[in-house]
Amino acid sequence: MTGAIFDIRRFSTHDGGGIRTTMFFKGCPLSCVWCHNPEGISAKRRPLHFPGKCIGCGICCGLSVHGGMTREAEGIRLHPEREEDWTALIDACPAGALSWDSRIVTVDEAVEELLKDRAFFKYGGGVTLSGGEPLGQPEFATQVLKRLQAEGVHTAIETSLQAGPEALRMVLPYLYLIYADLKIFDEERHKKYVGASNRNILKNLELLLTSDKRSQTIIRTPLIPEYTADPANIAAISRFLSGIYEDVSYELLNYNPLAEAKYHLVDREFCFKENPGRYSAEQMEAFAGVARENGIKKIIIE
Ligand code: SF4
Repeated sequence: MTGAIFDIRRFSTHDGGGIRTTMFFKGCPLSCVWCHNPEGISAKRRPLHFPGKCIGCGICCGLSVHGGMTREAEGIRLHPEREEDWTALIDACPAGALSWDSRIVTVDEAVEELLKDRAFFKYGGGVTLSGGEPLGQPEFATQVLKRLQAEGVHTAIETSLQAGPEALRMVLPYLYLIYADLKIFDEERHKKYVGASNRNILKNLELLLTSDKRSQTIIRTPLIPEYTADPANIAAISRFLSGIYEDVSYELLNYNPLAEAKYHLVDREFCFKENPGRYSAEQMEAFAGVARENGIKKIIIE
């Protein structure tokens, strides 16, 4: 069995307890306008060009049969939508300025790579599956988690819950910590800014928060100015969550302005013309206050 991943990041301290290794699954059924991993949205493998590394030698342009790489007035340009033998072009680049955005790995390869960091897992860390959407490849995710659990590794997942309930049920037995997002409560706004109805997500949240894993679950809302960071949205989410499970853990994630830098790699427009800054401690506390007023007892803020 194989899976498509676009990154493995080591020494992460934000994706669960301790020092963690996070594996990012390729492909996401949602398309949040503020997405922090835009390179992970498309399930299709595509080539990337890193202008900062490119030495302008033109070898790739010479090898292009259908104009996949061209030399323009502003420099070397990638046309990822054109058919080429991209592997040959990537291999020929002497500067490492071309690469695939993802790779296909077997369960054995994934587990072997993740276990290289097991020395660090002894101190409360482990492995987190993220994305993209790990539940988009549920069989592969389950096999990886099962193997890690058998090796005594702490396992966690970060999921949007935009998947069938059977995918969620499949992975749950092999998880010690579940981070699940609920970004926007209003269905129409969710469709507009997240790219799909939230009905499926709400149903899966109900499943999760009534399961035996509910005390190991943290629901998260990333605070995105103009989109999610709205007291009415936080209030509606808080009422919904606490109505299902009164001891639910709810985390408000401060806005992270760093995603903008990745948008030049993919053909997508970032949602802000002027990238806003992070919220202050006082502003974060005000959002937390809204959650508390609407039934949340366990609130986490950075
Ligand atoms: S082969 Fe690599 S370094 Fe040379 S022009 Fe193409 S991308 Fe740039």
